[in-house]
Parts: sequence; structure tokens; C-alpha cells
Amino acid sequence: MNILVQKFGGTSVSSHERRLLAVKKILNAKKKGYNVVVVVSAMGRNGYPYATDTLLSLVDDDFKSNNPLAVDLLLNCGEIISTVVMCCELNRSGINCIPLSGGQAGIITDNCYNNASTIKIKTDNILSILKKGMIPVVAGFQGVSEDGFATTLGRGGSDVTAALLGSALKAESIEIYTDVDGIMTADPRIVSDASLIKKMSYDEVFQFADQGAKVIHPRAVEIARKYNIPLVIKNTLSNCDGTIINSSGYCDSNNTITGITSMKNRIQINIKYEDNKSSENYINILNKLAEHKISIDLINVFPNQDIFTIGDQDYDKFDLLMDKLNIKYTYIKDCSKISIIGSRMRGIPGIMAKILNSLNKAKVEVLQTADSHTTIWCLVRSESEKKAIIALHNEFNL
Ligand code: ADP
Ligand code: MG
Repeated sequence: MNILVQKFGGTSVSSHERRLLAVKKILNAKKKGYNVVVVVSAMGRNGYPYATDTLLSLVDDDFKSNNPLAVDLLLNCGEIISTVVMCCELNRSGINCIPLSGGQAGIITDNCYNNASTIKIKTDNILSILKKGMIPVVAGFQGVSEDGFATTLGRGGSDVTAALLGSALKAESIEIYTDVDGIMTADPRIVSDASLIKKMSYDEVFQFADQGAKVIHPRAVEIARKYNIPLVIKNTLSNCDGTIINSSGYCDSNNTITGITSMKNRIQINIKYEDNKSSENYINILNKLAEHKISIDLINVFPNQDIFTIGDQDYDKFDLLMDKLNIKYTYIKDCSKISIIGSRMRGIPGIMAKILNSLNKAKVEVLQTADSHTTIWCLVRSESEKKAIIALHNEFNL
């Protein structure tokens, strides 16, 4: 069966006009002879009545932290409403379809509410709908646990649903429809003249996604890579070809750098040996952080100090732990990690110098750097993030 998965994000289903554009994409795929499986997100972004953030605002923080099972049930509603509304639009265009919750679509997960992992995918329902010539319209971002409770797959999880179904159904490709033309050299909201990257490898897209580019969920990229199913990122609002991602999809430009992305809410931590001579715990600090599930990155270990970053969300836990271990530290809050990504930078000298010169010219203070074969990271204060990205985007003519 030549199956095509088409996923429509929140902004693609936020209004009747936009849903009609989505219906057009579905009709086109059907005309080409595909058996289409549609995945939808909740309608619109924060402020829209049935968007995920709006639903979350219906209950207070205390309830949220103590009732993850209930919160997941609440969040399931957003995508479920979206599937039914989308089915209504498809019916009006003469297409027969069946709305399915994540559980009905066979996505079985563990009970890790808010961020559940998939245990198995049962494709029977979807296949029987397709065999009848109808379109299954699946609620993204959700599943059901083996004991029958509603779960969610983490923010941006509808991309994961599309990738899971695409792989389980051995789809010809997975199309992710959003509000931009594809993966761009930088977030177009930050760099207005960012250019579209037409072809990319899974590895490069994973770097983009993992380092903060919101346009696709990193887990979706991992799943598509594992099963070698092409991913295509497209714009619901245009007819652009989008970005094609597969194992051979090396970016067609000659640029050493493919693009730039960033992640806010990092805190730089500096622990000096001199300040902590009396604490025998200093030597074990990285182990202790791991034991307390505090994830760190940009790690620089020197004979007399350790410098690394943690996420904002872990700060209270980190501070408590340092207090308990009697370890003193200094920190810089509100930092952004900028990632300059490009698999062709391997072995090319002078890239770091170019980056630092350009940031210096733009009067952006660099707090820390790190590099791998495919990425250079610079930590800057969040207030300079936009300035830094624009300067680097210009410097490398992206
Ligand atoms: P959806 O609701 O369709 O899932 P998202 O908001 O999750 O959409 O992702 C699309 C957004 O990702 C775009 O509006 C864009 O601002 C942002 N984005 C960040 N980095 C990039 C990038 N490098 N290329 C394209 N979009 C990006
Ligand atoms: Mg998204």
C-alpha cells in the first residue's frame, strides 16, 4: 500500500481558511493515488480556545504538578477536537474519513505522563480504514497506556505521532506541514531574509531540532532516520517544495555552514576549586549532578574549576543540591546557546575565528564556546541572542 502521512501543525488548522488549504493538500495527495493518513495538532497557538497552552491555563500550577494523569487527559482534548473539526472540513469536500484519538490509532505508551514513550503501534484500525478507501484523521501528540489511561508524548509531539505512524505503516514519506516554507538557515522570525534549505540529511536536521529549531521534533527525525523514511517539511500556506530530508540529502549549497539555531533559558555555572577547598564533594560534582538527573552541557573541566550550563528549569534543584554538598558557585542567568551547524565545516580551518570576529564586531560578548565536527556552540546573554544570530547569518552569507 502506498501510504503517505501528512501532519498539520497548530497554525495549519487554526482557522476555517487554513483548514481548507490543508484539505487541498490532502485532496492532491489522494488524486496522486496515495492512501493518506492525516495527523493533526490542536488548533492554533496560545490564546486560541482549544490550543494546548490555553487548555493548560484552565488548571493551576499546584494541580498540574500533582495530577499528571489528569493533565494528560485534559491535553488530549485539544487534538481530539481538531480531528473532528478536520473531518467535518474533509466531509464537506466529499472525502470520507474517520477521526481517531491516539489510542484508537493504536499508539500504546508507558505511563510516563506528559512525556510518554511508545511501547508499540497497533496499525489494525488505520489499515482497515484505509482499505475501505477512507482517510484516518489521527489526533497527534497523544497515546494510551496499556492500562487505558490517556497520555501525551511531550511538546511538539504531533511530529512524533506522524513519524511513529509513518514507520509502523512503512509509508512512502512523511510530510510535516507548518507555517514556514521548510527548514530555513535561521528561524525566519529572527532573521527575516533566512533562506530555505532544500535538501538535508537526517543528522543535520537532528542537530537543528535538538539545538532548538522548533520546526520539527528531534524524536521524529530519529524515528524517520531509523526506518529510513523520507521526511518533507512543507508550508500549508504555499506551494513551495519544502525541505526534503533523507539519508543522502546533503544540503545543495556550497556554504560551510548550513544554518544557525539557538536555545534560550540556559544558566552558566562556574565552580572554582579555590572557593570549595573544604568540600570533599567538589571532585564528585558531575556524578552528583547525574544522580540528581540534572542535565548539563557546554562542559569545560579545568584543573581548578568546572564551567558548564544547566537549563533554567533545573536551577532550583541544582541550588538545593549545591547547598547540601556545601559547594559554592557563581552563575550567569538568562543565557542563550547559539549553534552554528554545518557538516561541511569538518577540517576547515578558521571558522571559529570568523565566528568570534563577527560577534566581536557586533559587540556580542561570548561567555563560552564548544565545538564538534558539525557544530560550533557559543553561549551569549539572551539579550544579545538576536543580534548574534543576525551577525553570524550575514558573516556566512546564508
Ligand atoms: P507547528 O505548529 O506547525 O508544529 P511550530 O511552531 O512547532 O509549528 O514550528 C514552526 C516554527 O518553527 C516556525 O514558525 C519558525 O518560527 C520556527 N523555526 C525555528 N527555527 C526554524 C528554522 N531553522 N527553520 C524554519 N522554522 C524555524
Ligand atoms: Mg511543532
